[in-house]
Amino acid sequence: MSSSEASSMETMNKDLHVTFIEMMYHLLPNPYESQEINHLTLAYFVVSSLDILNALQKVDKEAIANWVLSFQVRHGTTFDPNNGQFYGFHGSRSSQFPPDENGVFCHNNSHLASTYCALSILKIVGYDFSNLDSESMSTSMRNLQQPDGSFMPIHTGGETDLRFVYCAAAICFMLGNWNGVDKEKVKDYILKCQSYDGGFGLVPGAESHGGATYCAIASLRLMGFIEDNVLSSCNLSSLIDFPLLLDWILQRQGTDGGFQGRPNKSSDTCYAFWIGAVLRILGGCNFVDNKALRGFLVSCQYKYGGFSKFPGEFPDLYHSYYGYAAFSLLEESGLKSLCSKLGISDIAAIGV
Ligand SMILES: [Zn+2]
Repeated sequence: MSSSEASSMETMNKDLHVTFIEMMYHLLPNPYESQEINHLTLAYFVVSSLDILNALQKVDKEAIANWVLSFQVRHGTTFDPNNGQFYGFHGSRSSQFPPDENGVFCHNNSHLASTYCALSILKIVGYDFSNLDSESMSTSMRNLQQPDGSFMPIHTGGETDLRFVYCAAAICFMLGNWNGVDKEKVKDYILKCQSYDGGFGLVPGAESHGGATYCAIASLRLMGFIEDNVLSSCNLSSLIDFPLLLDWILQRQGTDGGFQGRPNKSSDTCYAFWIGAVLRILGGCNFVDNKALRGFLVSCQYKYGGFSKFPGEFPDLYHSYYGYAAFSLLEESGLKSLCSKLGISDIAAIGV
């Protein structure tokens, strides 16, 4: 490696990442073939990466919006909110069946995670949400909420945990319509997920985990149960045990500067976002060593662009995206600022 190459690897090399993600926009490498069912999620990583990297001008926004909208599930002429179904977005073409002769989709596989990704992409490309049928999307979500407040991801069943609670909250927030969600029940469920050590598990009683903790705190913020920078306010809300949570969060930074998802695990690029975003929402970013975190992330940067999970490995789309999101939280120059609670840029979230 030449000295100029070596010095370029000591910082976040934005141009290299734009080229890497642009390549993914045109063609996903074949290891992603098995993830076809999550096509919209992969697209979210690509489009939101380009947005954070300030390179959205490289893609056709209208074509992207039309492609995303082609996965939307539409009901027939009459909408029955109590028919048990959820009217969101399919995750991919293979989970979608052609409509019947009346244009009605009989096989409704719309999924909360795919719907979150679809709406995020539409926000990023500046799609006008007044063209969406927000009412049926939001109202039909009540068919997915369980008596304990949690959510199933799809109306035919599935695991219920904080991941889908977060997707439901983010969808309602983006639509500006909470008709299909009982917020008080959601809050009660989230509070039950806080563990004895201060972090949150995916379900009540489960081990604390960085991703679950993000889902819990971001959902409470989206629903308005907590404010931004709650740590700097004099009257810490008694809703959850914030001091214990902060204690758990601060112990996630390793000696290598990176963040781990839970105790006794290696530092991993994506937790720089999951943990970093929680700190940003709570107003605790200055309690960690940001310089050391930056150093860890750079050690996971691949020489041809992208970020890997661990230092020195090949990059993947998921860790690349959360690497960019983490650098945005670290206020890297040239990157768009991040709306921590939604996982997209601030500008996209506002809808400018
Ligand atoms: Zn990871």
